[in-house]
Amino acid sequence: MNAQIRLRFAPSPTGNPHIGNVRTAIFAWLFARKRGGSFLIRVEDTDQSRRTEGAVEAMLDSLRWVGIDWDEGPDVGGPLAPYTQSERLDLYRSETRRLIDSGRAYPCFCSPERLADVRRAQQMRGDETIGYDRHCLDMTRAQQDACRARGVQPVVRFRMPDEGVSVMEDIVFGHLEFENRLYDDFVALKSDGFPTYHLASVVDDHHMGISHVTRAKEWMPSVPRHVQLYAALGWDMPAFAHLPVILAPDRSKLSKRHGAASVMDYRDMGVLPEALMNYLSLLGWSLDGKTEILTPEELIAAFDLDRVSRSDAVFDFDKLMWLNGQHLRRSSDTRLARAIDKFWKDAPPQFDVTPDARAAARIAPLVRNRLKTLQDAAPLVKFFFSEDLHVDAEQLVQRGMDAERTTALLQSAHDALAQLDTFDAESIESLLRPLAADLGVKVGQLLGSLRVATTAQKVSPPMFESLEALGPERTLESIRKAIAKLSSAAGSPK
Ligand code: GLU
Repeated sequence: MNAQIRLRFAPSPTGNPHIGNVRTAIFAWLFARKRGGSFLIRVEDTDQSRRTEGAVEAMLDSLRWVGIDWDEGPDVGGPLAPYTQSERLDLYRSETRRLIDSGRAYPCFCSPERLADVRRAQQMRGDETIGYDRHCLDMTRAQQDACRARGVQPVVRFRMPDEGVSVMEDIVFGHLEFENRLYDDFVALKSDGFPTYHLASVVDDHHMGISHVTRAKEWMPSVPRHVQLYAALGWDMPAFAHLPVILAPDRSKLSKRHGAASVMDYRDMGVLPEALMNYLSLLGWSLDGKTEILTPEELIAAFDLDRVSRSDAVFDFDKLMWLNGQHLRRSSDTRLARAIDKFWKDAPPQFDVTPDARAAARIAPLVRNRLKTLQDAAPLVKFFFSEDLHVDAEQLVQRGMDAERTTALLQSAHDALAQLDTFDAESIESLLRPLAADLGVKVGQLLGSLRVATTAQKVSPPMFESLEALGPERTLESIRKAIAKLSSAAGSPK
């Protein structure tokens, strides 16, 4: 364990966990795990007006589902608890006090109306810097007290330098430089006593010993503010890696409008968590520009922040579906059975018989190669969980056959299958292939009729394996019922 490497994921509980957030979490987690460091979750709930009920739990559920674990966090605690910013207000207040005492911050009593007027005037004049005009910077103690006595609660503003540059060597974007005079004295502590993102994130990243800050590129404009806050508080900065933006296929910002944007939508669609992790890890990172299918273990071994790209990544739904199919195909029988079982528990399919874990284990190897998502399994194996198959007599009769020949065919197959000692796919295959030849029909014709007779589906998993899964009793009974269907259909007027 490398005690020096500590990364955090810092969600704001303001809505449904978006896949963009989860991509950020995955990068931080992969890097921490790769380096044997720690990964923690910190809830950034300082904007009380945007808080959404249940959002923290939804976020943690999404992360857990996708396969991320954490060493410290709001639910598991840890040595630096609490991990929720609204419970750390004393710390922000005491750090703000330090800034005020050293002359780097000051209370501001300006009303929102005044601030809006100032801004409007600046815009009309075409000023280079739009922002606070330092009206309260030189207030005397007595003036401040007078405002307080009138009941005005101040904000605390951080004093940005008038000149010079703020510099950062970003792991992904390289050398970043910002002219300080273009940044106004921003609010660090709001009048309700809550910190802004800038103050809270810097204070917590320092106090929580974060070694690498990984965050979305949209936060890059706050770099000069954060550089100056670290300097004013007398702290070394962690390393920073800003992550490229995820765009929708039309190159606009990815949002709900583009279909599923929340992680749980993908779970409900039957995407495997490891496939989603794989796909999201490729949004802005690549191992070598060509390797695409990686398990979580392989990702941990391969991941590094210095291979994160600067270019925006475009979300490609078809590629995610393709990757999901690949992961499904490569899953072990046990893994696939567990995934199907879990998927069916969450969203029970419309079967006559409720599938259990054992049944899922039976059908998993049958469907493996035919799945793009877990959703595709149920229609393929409906027959397996049906008490009564609704066989369509017309479908039993294959192209080039008639009812009479089909009846004879099914009867021969029935009688031959009834003789089998071992009812497994291999024996069934070695029996049925020569039988078709003996009867003068194509193997496809025999299997086609058998498929409809035993599954009532035109599409099913491979026939020999399906019959094995059904077992001799159900197979033979279905064939007998199909034969009866054919004869009653023949007897009834057209
Ligand atoms: N709370 C911020 C967000 O949800 C986190 C930004 C950061 O990682 O510093 O985007």
